[in-house]
Amino acid sequence: MALSPMMQQYLEMKEKYKDCILFFRVGDFYEMFFDDAEIASKALELVLTGKDCGLENRAPMCGIPFHASKNYLGRLISKGFKVAICEQVEDPAKAKGLVKRDVIRVVTPGTFNDSSFIDEEKNNFIMSVYHKGDQISLAVSDISTGDFSCTSFNGKKALLLDEISKFSPTEILINENMNSDIADSILYLGIMVTRKDDSYFENDATYLSNQFSKEESQKLNDIEQIVSCALLKYICDTQKCTLSNINRIDRYEILDYMTIDSNTRRNLELTENIHEKNKKGSLLWVMDKTKTSMGSRQLRKWIEQPLLNKKAIEERLDSVEELYYNVPLNDDLRESLNKIYDIERIVGKIATKNVNAKDLISLKNSLTRIPELRKLICSSSSAKLNYYYNNIDELNDLKELLEKSLIEDAPMSVKDGDIIKTGYNSEVDELRGAKLHGKEWIAKLENQEREFTGIKSLKVGYNKVFGYYIEISKSNYDLIPEGRYIRKQTLTNAERFITDELKEVENKILGAEEKLCSLEYSLFVDIRNKIEAEIQRMQKTAKLIAELDCISTFAFIALENNYIKPIINKEGYIDIKDGRHPVVEKVIPKENFISNDTLLNKDKNNILIITGPNMAGKSTYMRQVALITLMAHIGSYVPASKADISVCDKIFTRIGASDDLAGGKSTFMVEMAEVSNILKNATNNSLVLLDEVGRGTSTYDGLSIAWSVVEHISKSPDLKCKTLFATHYHELTKLEDELPGVKNYSVAVKEIDNSVVFLRKIVEGGADHSYGIEVAKLAGLPEKVIKRAKDILKELENNTDIEEAVVDTEFKTNNEVKSKVQESSTEDYLIDTPMQMDFSMLAKEELIKELKD
Ligand code: ADP
Repeated sequence: MALSPMMQQYLEMKEKYKDCILFFRVGDFYEMFFDDAEIASKALELVLTGKDCGLENRAPMCGIPFHASKNYLGRLISKGFKVAICEQVEDPAKAKGLVKRDVIRVVTPGTFNDSSFIDEEKNNFIMSVYHKGDQISLAVSDISTGDFSCTSFNGKKALLLDEISKFSPTEILINENMNSDIADSILYLGIMVTRKDDSYFENDATYLSNQFSKEESQKLNDIEQIVSCALLKYICDTQKCTLSNINRIDRYEILDYMTIDSNTRRNLELTENIHEKNKKGSLLWVMDKTKTSMGSRQLRKWIEQPLLNKKAIEERLDSVEELYYNVPLNDDLRESLNKIYDIERIVGKIATKNVNAKDLISLKNSLTRIPELRKLICSSSSAKLNYYYNNIDELNDLKELLEKSLIEDAPMSVKDGDIIKTGYNSEVDELRGAKLHGKEWIAKLENQEREFTGIKSLKVGYNKVFGYYIEISKSNYDLIPEGRYIRKQTLTNAERFITDELKEVENKILGAEEKLCSLEYSLFVDIRNKIEAEIQRMQKTAKLIAELDCISTFAFIALENNYIKPIINKEGYIDIKDGRHPVVEKVIPKENFISNDTLLNKDKNNILIITGPNMAGKSTYMRQVALITLMAHIGSYVPASKADISVCDKIFTRIGASDDLAGGKSTFMVEMAEVSNILKNATNNSLVLLDEVGRGTSTYDGLSIAWSVVEHISKSPDLKCKTLFATHYHELTKLEDELPGVKNYSVAVKEIDNSVVFLRKIVEGGADHSYGIEVAKLAGLPEKVIKRAKDILKELENNTDIEEAVVDTEFKTNNEVKSKVQESSTEDYLIDTPMQMDFSMLAKEELIKELKD
């Protein structure tokens, strides 16, 4: 027995796409066979059947209807599969023997660009990474928007991981023989990794020259060319064409932007919350009030890449200021932006030839809004708004073309006609006339035959198999005139007939219809090509609109949330008055958020030791300083009454403890590795947040480490980073008198009736008491346990010999509470914590006043 020819064809194809599930087109279905069928039937909950394949046993098979394939495809991709789509590439009716088939596209997580599946507020990035000697290069692209960025750096794995976390690609391409340590770290991230032979990473200049102008390609050094070529090759291999929307390279240096390592991004919850990994509760969640998807993606990029150039930051801030002071103008801008569709992704569909007339109508409607958008900013004084005014291209030629050519409510399908407007093309008009004329003739015939036969219910109908027919119901059979009609079909209750004349007219109508559809399609392709030729102009306009949306959003949220314009300095100090945490203030009742000042500078105040009980607000305070600093660096107003912020090259955080068990590291190891990274990489211009460093080991070990870390930062001349150090080790407060730059602060609490009230106010001086037991009580530890703890503490405090035990007891109690409260993250604030003592705001303010006096 031998395999059937179709099965042979299938297996040949499958051999070429081993790592994919092969969608094999058979008639109106995509069929999957053998292992693919078993995998897909499970993943998609499809019935597994079998098909005769010429062998003794039937081949396992499952299938999905062609018209519903998008949904199944999306599900497979989101489950981490790759799918190769194999189509019939010749008309089965005309094929001699087995119909020819070929793979027309390979869909992978990083190259999936179906707008109904990818998040419109987020780029879908694919990245390629190449490592050679001590150099690493990476290229990253979003084929749905045409973004293409590339960089290279001295081969530090940590830097690579930071870049990966910045872009969070859905697929990474690496070379087979990449250094195993780096490869393992990438694999460990849980992102789909596609490994290609090293030969895939050879510099094949044709890929670059096919895609980019010479000027663009020359931006890249050798190792960047290699990694870019590999990525372009992969994109071509999957899309089976060159994408015209990828035409510009954003070649950047890592040091062009603020360095924020992956831990810090996570800890500060910049674009997603730490627990559920979604936007809610993140900085982006508060800031993203953009009106367009393009703006939303741009804002995410800005948050991921804060600027370091004072002038560029100030340019953004000045433009925000102008809109901030002109609310009616900004309202109009936002209204106008609201009507603009995702031009970038429509352009992406044009490039992949997946665009339909509806998309082009959306494009036209968006273009229609641009003149009014420009007009609104025509007399701006700020440089950036002026730039937008002068550089946003209204694309009138394209708008006019679309306006005169496409029907406003054109259907989804581009091959079934009803796309081209009357008046655009005379042949279309003529064919439409013929079609209409024929239909009128048929209506007349129906009337005429009713009159002639006297059968009122006689009707002329149409179906795809028989074409036009005359239908007469059973009850009227005796009225059918002899010899007038030719019988065609008998139904239970009716007979269907034709006449020669009817068929003649039918030919005319159907001929016109067929011609019309194919003519309309070819005109559509022609329009699409004309638009495609102007892709770069559309992309530029889209990008500027996205930026304008962000600037306008910054002005909007500044007003909504009572932010102020920060001053940017290069003198190395951060001076914040009445600073607030942008996210926490949104999730607890507004009037309850207590603002706090911060002063950090290079010498006198560069290390703030912050003490205070658990739950007092130390972490919130530290994060708020980092977030205000970061917001200023992206050109946004900030939550404070005054903020003077020095340009910061890097922000580091060592917050919260999490085991990296899969990575084989304990909590303490992770903690120490992070501290070590900070001490090695922070500079005089960095901002460093350290939360309870040392708590992962025994008290004296921890204290010693914490102590020596503070000492190191204070004494190293090239490490005068601005540091916020929250700690339970009250001993560290002694350092204020011993080391330059160290300053003690604490979060005020008040003890009332054996309980603590958190005042949330940062005051000078160290805390005198841990209030561990009081906080434990608030957390709901049983009364009996609390009482016993108090007794033990009293005993221990009276016995100086066992001082170590005292500290240990305190440490444990604190930890117990901490684990109950969990690591604080903005997510926790969303479920209002039961920990907060019910204490009126008025009373709290009174206490704070008392404190100040
Ligand atoms: P710590 O780090 O000292 O243990 P957190 O910073 O985690 O404390 O704060 C604990 C809780 O206190 C937060 O969940 C938040 O609800 C509240 N909180 C913190 N800072 C403030 C503030 N400035 N104003 C009002 N509530 C605050």
